[in-house]
Amino acid sequence: MEGDVLVIGGGAAGMETASRISDFNRNVILIEKEQELGGHILKWDRLFPDGIPASDVTKNLKESLGSTKVLLGCYITSIEKREDSNFFAQLNSGETIKCSSVIFATGFKLFPAQKKQEYGYGLYERVITNADLETRFKKGEGLGKDAPKRIGFVHCVGSRDEKICNNQCSKLCCITAVKQAIELKQLYPFAEIFCFYMDLRMYGRGYEDLYLEAQSKYEIRFIRGRVSEISQEQSGLVIVKAEDTLASRPLKITLDWVVLMAGIISERENDYLSQQLSLQLGEDGFIDSVDPIQKTNQTNIAGVFVTGSASGPKTLPEVINEARSTALSVNEYLNKIKNG
Ligand code: SF4
Repeated sequence: MEGDVLVIGGGAAGMETASRISDFNRNVILIEKEQELGGHILKWDRLFPDGIPASDVTKNLKESLGSTKVLLGCYITSIEKREDSNFFAQLNSGETIKCSSVIFATGFKLFPAQKKQEYGYGLYERVITNADLETRFKKGEGLGKDAPKRIGFVHCVGSRDEKICNNQCSKLCCITAVKQAIELKQLYPFAEIFCFYMDLRMYGRGYEDLYLEAQSKYEIRFIRGRVSEISQEQSGLVIVKAEDTLASRPLKITLDWVVLMAGIISERENDYLSQQLSLQLGEDGFIDSVDPIQKTNQTNIAGVFVTGSASGPKTLPEVINEARSTALSVNEYLNKIKNG
């Protein structure tokens, strides 16, 4: 099979990049390892800050794919760049794709919360993650039949944490916690909701307003302090121990449910492809750009581009905008190699 461009990854970044390159009448092949396009948004119910249904975004992205050839359930087993500057990718299906350019739209993964053993994820039924909560929202399950009285959110799980060698901020989880806390308060108006945070990072337009609304309208309480341990009572309720760093005192609180805000980490599944292409990765495993200001989507290998969260945590609007700029860069590159 032959194409101008091979896009690896069928999430928001991959779909938007593929559709924009198709607009230039390029031959685009998009491969996705799952049986459905959408990536992480598929698991999400509503998106911050306005609560837009995530399924609307996925639907729009799918509908704009134009002439893109989509291969589902496909992944690359090996890839090489030959002397004629073409790339040859071998797929798990046995097919080979020849193309002039490759785009890594391989996304991210959520930190596996069970690695923070002190939080009891996977052990205690009432300790769940941000992604689990979205799945519950999507299924219309909420937190079960009995209305919870007290719910806690723990920020920075797997982010900004020297113990697990990840110092970076995941950028999205503070605002996600605020959005989810408000949604729970709307479902359970009599519940007390607590957010345990280190710093609150509400940098996007409208985020600070949502945070203020969470306090003033929904009476969600924000407690500055890192949670040291979560344990379970015989009744199934969970006990959170933390240090309230503003009041300078230890804190112990019994809750019905705890939601862990699992952070964003690099998708290491594609490291073997990076190695085969000698693609430069950062220590955190995200793909490095050649120039982090003006060429954010270009890698150290000519013809290989990166887009979306494969180069670091990004919000969905940032992903979409970067996908569009990547399409322009790839088109320029293809014109350049055609004209010698
Ligand atoms: S966005 Fe907030 S919760 Fe997420 S890592 Fe950064 S500070 Fe922590």
